[in-house]
Order: sequence, then C-alpha cells, then structure tokens
Amino acid sequence: MKIMKFGGTSVGKPERMHQVKELITRDNQKKIVVLSALSGTTNALVGIGDALASANKELAKERIDALHGHYQTFYKELLKTGAARIKAEKIIKEHFEFLNIILKISFNEAINRDILAQGELLSTKLFYTLLQELDVPAVFLPALDFMSIDENHEPELSKISDKVKVILANYPEDRIFVTQGYICKNHRNEVDNLKRGGSDYSASLIGAAISAEVVEIWTDIDGMHNNDPRVVDKTRPIAQMSFDEAAELAYFGAKILHPASIWPAQQYNIPVKLLNTMAPDAVGTTITAKELGVGVKALAAKDGITAIKIKSSRMLLAYGFLRKVFEVFEKYKTSIDMITTSEVAVSLTIDDISHLKEITAELEQYGTVEIDTNQTIISVVGNLIAESKGTVAKVMNCLEEYPLRMVSYGGSRHNVSILVDANFKNDALRSLNEGLFDWD
Ligand code: ADP
Ligand code: ASP
Ligand code: MG
Repeated sequence: MKIMKFGGTSVGKPERMHQVKELITRDNQKKIVVLSALSGTTNALVGIGDALASANKELAKERIDALHGHYQTFYKELLKTGAARIKAEKIIKEHFEFLNIILKISFNEAINRDILAQGELLSTKLFYTLLQELDVPAVFLPALDFMSIDENHEPELSKISDKVKVILANYPEDRIFVTQGYICKNHRNEVDNLKRGGSDYSASLIGAAISAEVVEIWTDIDGMHNNDPRVVDKTRPIAQMSFDEAAELAYFGAKILHPASIWPAQQYNIPVKLLNTMAPDAVGTTITAKELGVGVKALAAKDGITAIKIKSSRMLLAYGFLRKVFEVFEKYKTSIDMITTSEVAVSLTIDDISHLKEITAELEQYGTVEIDTNQTIISVVGNLIAESKGTVAKVMNCLEEYPLRMVSYGGSRHNVSILVDANFKNDALRSLNEGLFDWD
C-alpha cells in the first residue's frame, strides 16, 4: 500500500481537487489518501479562534461568515450533479452550524482545537463527495478513529497501527481510502492536532503504521529545493537525499516538510517522495536511507529563535554546571536547538518561549543571564559536512558581512548551524546560495 498526501494548495481550488482525483486513479495500487484543509482555511480557523479568545464575537462571526461564503462558491464549482451538491450543502451546513454554535458557548482551548479540526473534516468530506459523483469507489476513514497522541503530545504509533490495521481489514477489496491529515485525539479523548503543517506528519505516521511501500507528499513545488524559494530567486530541486538530511532541513525550517515528519518513515525505512501536484511528472525528491554525495546540499532557516547566554565565573572548573542548566529546560519541557560553550559561559537557543520567564529566573541562580530575541538559525545541510575539507571556511566566507551570534559545527555530520539576527536572514541565505552552489 502507499500513502498519498495532498497539501492545502493541492486541494485549494475545485480544479485542483479534480487533478487529485486523476492522480489517485492513475494506477490501481491500494492507497491511503491523506488530505489537508483547503489552503487558507486553517489560517481562517486560527483567526476565528483568536477572535473568540479575545472575546470579540462580532469579529469571530464575520470571519465564520467569510469562510462559509468561500465554501459555498467552492462546492458549486467542484460538483455538477444535483445529488452531489445536496450532499455537499449538508456537509457545509453541518460544519458551519457547529462553528456558529461555538459562538454561543464559553470558549476554551479544547473548543479552539475543535475549531481547527473543521478544515480537514470539510476538505475530506467534499473530496469524498467528488469521488462518489465521479463513481470512483473509495472508503472514508475518519482520522479521529485511529490517530492519537499521548499526554506529551507524542503520537501513539503502535496504537495507531493496531487500529488502522483493524479498520483496513474490514475492506479487503477496496483500493482507495480517504482520511484527514493534521487531526487526532489526545489522551483526554478530545480533538487535537499535530501542529501547523501536521498533515505531512499524519502521512508518515500512517505510512509507518501500515509499513507502506512509499509515502508520497504532493505539494505545490517540485521537491525539496537547495534553498528557501520564498526568499531566494534562484533555487533548484534535489533529486535524492537521505532521511538524516531531510530531517535536519525540515527541523531547521524547510516549510515543505513538517519538522517531525521524517522520523516515522526513517524508523520503518519507508521512502518519502516529494512531488508536485501541478507538475506530476517532475522528478521531485526521493528521501531514503542512502547517503549520496559529499558536501553541502541545501540551506534552511528557522525563525522565531531566542538565544540565552548564562555567564558565570563560578562555572570555571565546576563539573555538573551544564546538567543544572539543562535540568531547568527539562523541567519546563522546553527543547534546546543549538548550544555553544566557553569556559565561563554557555549560549543556547530555544523556539518555545512560553516558560521563558520561569526559566530565566531559575537560571539566574547560576550566573548572569542575557536574552536575545528575534534570532534566526541558518542551517547548512548535506552529507559528511564535518569531513569535507574547506566547507566551513566557505560558509564563513559567504557570511563575512554579517555578525554571527553563534556557530555550531561538529554536532552532526550533516549540519553547520549559524545563529544570526533575523534582520540578516534573507541576505545571509542569498550570499550562501551564491557562494556554496555551482550555478553554471
Ligand atoms: P502544503 O500545503 O502542500 O503542505 P507547504 O506550503 O506546507 O505546502 O510547503 C510547500 C512550500 O514550502 C513551497 O511552496 C515553498 O514555498 C516552501 N519551501 C520552503 N523551503 C523549501 C525548500 N527548501 N524546498 C521546497 N519548498 C520549500
Ligand atoms: N491544515 C493544517 C495547516 O494548515 C495542516 C497542514 O496543512 O498540514 O497547518
Ligand atoms: Mg505543509
């Protein structure tokens, strides 16, 4: 079986949904089709939740109505027959009635997650109605019946696997299964999600759960590019990369993949392919365990980083200092991305600042604490970077114009990371693009 995941832009217009139908019926292989919400919908739902969180019901209502209007136009262009249109009207009515009911009750975080789930519920139901209209046999698999996370927000892979297998066993003859990306149940049995961009993660988790042959991530670009195409004009797709390289790029900001989406595939050795819905025959990127080539393959940047420096002359010769520092972060479940140390200070970075105040207060017992916000980690990713001669020198040459707050090298064979003020990000990515890649 294979997994075919289609992102927001791939289902965001009626003609694109038709294109998705073509792609999933090109061969007769069994497949689970994982869909995101239509592009723009999750952002709109976040906006509705934000308005409710600030008790602005009028604004929430305006936003609900605007989104409702979008779906009313969408389904009429998507579907042609009366019967299918009646089904779609019912689906849309049901979900927007739900949003309107929420306006009347008191708002909380669990309700917010229910709001966020509406996008994937709507897209999959409308797509399934399209398949019915076009007489494509398919089974609708509600993700909330099998996708789950534990109290630490970690996916429960073995439970997911058991449940999906039981469900699939009921349909031995069927070839196409349609399910939602992003959404899941949490340990309280409430509706939850795998964080923004989480449909990629759903796809690889489901792939791992059923030991799929391949996980295909269909999106709006022809694979993983060597640099962020939103920032740099001249970029090119990379035909092949390893799980480790792809994981580093995803974690350090390549938006094409959710940060956690590689590990399930890597653990079960399932190839991941990044493909373009708009150009289905383009080669795309194939991600496998194979490590090919030596040197830099791609750059990525992760914004919203906070750097923390703890300086203490008492640290000199004191063993156990780093453990004490790390314990503070562990206590507040805050993960650290980069670390650099000197004899009297340690600098590290975090992206989740929800406990920054408490963390700072506790760290102050060990030394002076300095905080720099609005930083960006630029990651230079490739194979055996640490072993290839001159790579780091080249990276530094490209960055000679910019102040570098931290440099991390040698932690992994696949990565050199540099922390810069966010204002330098775009120029730094462009300089590295010119200096590290051959453009002839
Ligand atoms: P989807 O809605 O299909 O999940 P996303 O918007 O999440 O799509 O991811 C695809 C986008 O990721 C591309 O349109 C591109 O702008 C952005 N992107 C950022 N970095 C990269 C990269 N290194 N290679 C390819 N795309 C990238
Ligand atoms: N719809 C969700 C989002 O926009 C999940 C996804 O698209 O992957 O974040
Ligand atoms: Mg995405």
